[in-house]
Amino acid sequence: MGMKKEMLTIFNHDRNIFKSKYIYPVISRRSMGLSLGINLNTNNACNWQCIYCQVSGLTLGKPETIDLNLLENELDTWLEKIVNGSFLNDCASHKVGFKDIAFSGNGEPTATPEFESIVQIVLKKIVKFKLSKIIKLRLITNGSYLNKKNVRHGLGLMKDLDREVWFKIDQVKPEGALIINRINLSTKSLETNLKAAISTSPTIVQTCLLRINKERPSNIFISNYIKFLKPYASQLKAIHLYSLARPSQQKTDLQIDALNSDELKMIADKMSTLKTKIECY
Ligand code: SF4
Repeated sequence: MGMKKEMLTIFNHDRNIFKSKYIYPVISRRSMGLSLGINLNTNNACNWQCIYCQVSGLTLGKPETIDLNLLENELDTWLEKIVNGSFLNDCASHKVGFKDIAFSGNGEPTATPEFESIVQIVLKKIVKFKLSKIIKLRLITNGSYLNKKNVRHGLGLMKDLDREVWFKIDQVKPEGALIINRINLSTKSLETNLKAAISTSPTIVQTCLLRINKERPSNIFISNYIKFLKPYASQLKAIHLYSLARPSQQKTDLQIDALNSDELKMIADKMSTLKTKIECY
């Protein structure tokens, strides 16, 4: 596993700089420290094709079969460096703490049939490195597979740990999802997936907001979003609003630009009727 010194900042999310196949460290703004990511989509395949996706070479499809032994060895090696070694001092550009292990890769992590086995491996390492009171487990998901048996079992295994599901909702209407996520997603399916997240784990909704062809998200979009989330708002841990932090790697005929922090804050204010904690990144 190659090592480079002082490579990690919030701007560098290159999953290949340390040459592991599945495990990669990043400094995360939202985790507020070092996040050890598990990339289960090493072939860059996702079942969604979001126009803002930062995965280069993204394709539509499923992950390759996971080499569980390799994944376990890599996780072991990384945790040894972070927990018992000097990685945090040597490779972060400023002082950071180890905050989470996150299922978050170049595609939808729960698409892999091995999801439950991978959770078992992670839990074994959390025990080995005595991390249960120190870090969170996070699943970053578009929610499509949260009703699959192996995913529900996997999430069930985490129930005694500090954990969160970060559930992507960029659009609540099928016509919006077709444009932004480039998938067919009915409002009913979105609701079923969100209920599955809430029933298994503390859930944070994360929403990417963009300026599209120079237009900010409309008031109609905001009002539909509020109407959709209202019944679930009290059960959510938070809503995270964010915009493009790095350029999209996807081809699209639309002009997409980042909203600035004032614009995100203005939208958050309009959504405050949900009475859920809303944070902008
Ligand atoms: S769900 Fe995530 S990985 Fe998949 S296309 Fe969208 S942004 Fe990219």
